[in-house]
Amino acid sequence: MRLATFVRDGWKCVDCEWTPITLSVVEAIESMLHGKGAGGDRWLECDHETNVRFGGDERPEDLATRCNLCHAKKHSMSAIRPRFQRAS
Ligand SMILES: [Zn+2]
Repeated sequence: MRLATFVRDGWKCVDCEWTPITLSVVEAIESMLHGKGAGGDRWLECDHETNVRFGGDERPEDLATRCNLCHAKKHSMSAIRPRFQRAS
C-alpha cells in the first residue's frame, strides 16, 4: 500500500481522473486493499513513473496514482511504442 501517493494525487487517476471517492472513503479504501470491490472492476493502483530497474529505490516522486484501466493501457502502449514517455 502506498497511501501517501494516493493522498498526494487526491485519490484520482492522473490520466482519466477517475476516483472511487464518490463512493465513500471507507469503500474506496476497501477497494484499494482488496484490489476490487466498491468500484467494481475498477480501482486505483500505484504506478511507477520511473522503472525501478533503472531508477533504483522506490521514491514517492516516482509513483503516480492510476486506475487499473489506465495502468494497463499505459503498459500496452509502451510495449507497442517504446518511445512513449510522460514529460516530467
Ligand atoms: Zn484512469
